[in-house]
Amino acid sequence: MLITVYGDRVRAARILRRMKSSDVAAKLGWPASKQTRLEYAERSYLHPAQLAEVSQLLEFPEKYFQQIPPAALAPEDLLFRAPVATPKKEKSYLAEFARSVGEVLEWLDDHHRLPPVKIPALPSNTPAAQAASEVRRSLGVGDSHPIPHLTHLAERAGVPVVMRGSTRSVALHDPDEADYEAVTEKHLGYSARVGQHGDRPVTVIRANHSWERVRWTVAHEIGHVTLHAQGINEQSEEQASLFASELLAPARFVQEELPSHVTLASLTELKLKWGISLGALITHLYSNRLIDSERFETLRRQLYTRTNSSTGRSWGRDEPGWDAREVEKPRLLVTWMERCLGFAAPNAVSQLSGLWPSDLIASMVSGQREKSLGGRERPTQKRRPASNVVELAAWRREA
Ligand SMILES: [Zn+2]
Repeated sequence: MLITVYGDRVRAARILRRMKSSDVAAKLGWPASKQTRLEYAERSYLHPAQLAEVSQLLEFPEKYFQQIPPAALAPEDLLFRAPVATPKKEKSYLAEFARSVGEVLEWLDDHHRLPPVKIPALPSNTPAAQAASEVRRSLGVGDSHPIPHLTHLAERAGVPVVMRGSTRSVALHDPDEADYEAVTEKHLGYSARVGQHGDRPVTVIRANHSWERVRWTVAHEIGHVTLHAQGINEQSEEQASLFASELLAPARFVQEELPSHVTLASLTELKLKWGISLGALITHLYSNRLIDSERFETLRRQLYTRTNSSTGRSWGRDEPGWDAREVEKPRLLVTWMERCLGFAAPNAVSQLSGLWPSDLIASMVSGQREKSLGGRERPTQKRRPASNVVELAAWRREA
């Protein structure tokens, strides 16, 4: 008896394992051409023993290869401009990762509908102030108010965020690749539209210790989701960046709070109020002509040459206020797993699905808030060293 296997699945699993097609063939003891044919054929027929070997080598369950694959997602479909040096295999990996996230989301959506997408899709040349204002409306935050937890609001408005943790276990097949991500991944995040109809925006960001960077990256990615539904071009990065700063700190409201002599100290207050880094704020003020080029240069020079005495690094790296907020963490994926399945432990989710290996699920949920407080959870389930009184109060605030 032969078993039907989808070539696309074999290729996806191999890319997610960061393996070369020829290496897979060598390890399976068959000619490279056979592997290529297998990956590019829509369907192939394998002996059960062969499928078992493929499954074992790629560490994906046999069932994974037998299921009709989700809609393709090519590296060109990713909404980000990769640094020029980004190798093609890296882009393929990022595309396959987003596609897997999309498949997991669709699976969960079948159990319990995900929040509908409220973030608008606008023409790419929409002025930043207008686009930011429309997005703020979809998030339920007025223009004159700081956005409290951008990541949660984005998720509530239908854009799941995945904070990708270290996937070292995935790279162990090739020791040369073990440090690959740490060394070569220069981007902080990317977005894509996933799902059967390509209508679910998803944002993937790299885990990062800087709350400023995470918030700004999420804002930048919402810019891509909003402005680049039709794809990206030469201007996209700048458009998304202008949008990000405007979303976090609308220039016309920040303007009202600017002192006549702008200093790093006065900007730090604004930074903490609006939740935007000094670096981004200084550029934002300059591009909106709220400070002149001389002030812009002076502020930047101060920021990047002074040393933060508590970390020993420049203020450009660890800005004043670097420890004033917690890093935002997404929670939609974990919340939905708990809501639909009753748990979010990668092992259990992997087993129940029968499709995705647990380390892949782990890399999707590792950056999520450990236990979300929303939905049906009870406050006692929250692991926190604080007293019950505090937990209940926190729970009420968020419920
Ligand atoms: Zn971008």
